[in-house]
Amino acid sequence: MSAIAPERIASRAAIVGEDTRITRALPHRQRRTVGAWCFLDHLGPVQFAPGAGMHVGAHPHIGLQTFTWMIEGDVVHRDSLGNEQVIRPGQVNLMTAGRGIAHTEDSLHDGARMHAAQLWIALPESECRCEPWFENYPQLPTADVGGFRATLLAGSAFGQTAPTRVYSPLLGIDLVADDAATATLPLRTDFEYAAMMLRGTASVAGETIAPGEWLYFAPGRDALDIASDAATQLLVLGGTPMHEDIIIWWNLVARSQAEIEAALADWNAGRFAPVRAGSTAERLVAPSLDGVQLRAGR
Ligand code: MN
Repeated sequence: MSAIAPERIASRAAIVGEDTRITRALPHRQRRTVGAWCFLDHLGPVQFAPGAGMHVGAHPHIGLQTFTWMIEGDVVHRDSLGNEQVIRPGQVNLMTAGRGIAHTEDSLHDGARMHAAQLWIALPESECRCEPWFENYPQLPTADVGGFRATLLAGSAFGQTAPTRVYSPLLGIDLVADDAATATLPLRTDFEYAAMMLRGTASVAGETIAPGEWLYFAPGRDALDIASDAATQLLVLGGTPMHEDIIIWWNLVARSQAEIEAALADWNAGRFAPVRAGSTAERLVAPSLDGVQLRAGR
């Protein structure tokens, strides 16, 4: 197998909600998308102080799916379709924004531990204005892969297919080891991939990475060697490269500036349906777009 060397990319620090520190792997100026995965946030692991938790007030989304993978802790999702759903460890919440949805996200208990990944998937142009929907997936396929416990979050692997409904060819796998482990993951040569560390360190295709950094693999690779000496956890995400340019701005994914401006105007004028009540956090105010020329890319 000959393959192009992976790109090593540093995540950056950011804040979500009132004061929850996270690291953001995508979008990055070196790279905007991996397949249709267009936003990769890693939250925690964190032990919140007594009385503190994650509280993200009502905010809108268009043109994307938010994909929440819960590792530790419990979070309540409430949305403008009337859904209220607690997501627990080992579960995925998948919210398809399509033409528009708003939601809140709150720790179920303050003072608890939390560890999660929140990922966004850009919808293809043909589906980007679909009716919004939300689903909680309480159980996902698992497999033993060379000492790693693998959970299939999206797509197909290990002879299994994840139940999560996505709109383009994608893969998402969570890999956990409690001790030394070695695995070779078969890859699709038409996919590009990201390996993102969540805990510990691992050697991925011979590159050692730790939380806060990730590796990008261009298409053309048919396998990925992953090894760790100790407890570790990482995500392997992949998909066929995007063939459409998108604009990602605030919580919105669109094809044009006009579409972003229309969604902002709708949010600011209160034209989104109200989010089911219960969050303790304030409704988010959209940043101003005054004079900003947004750039489409992939
Ligand atoms: Mn959101």
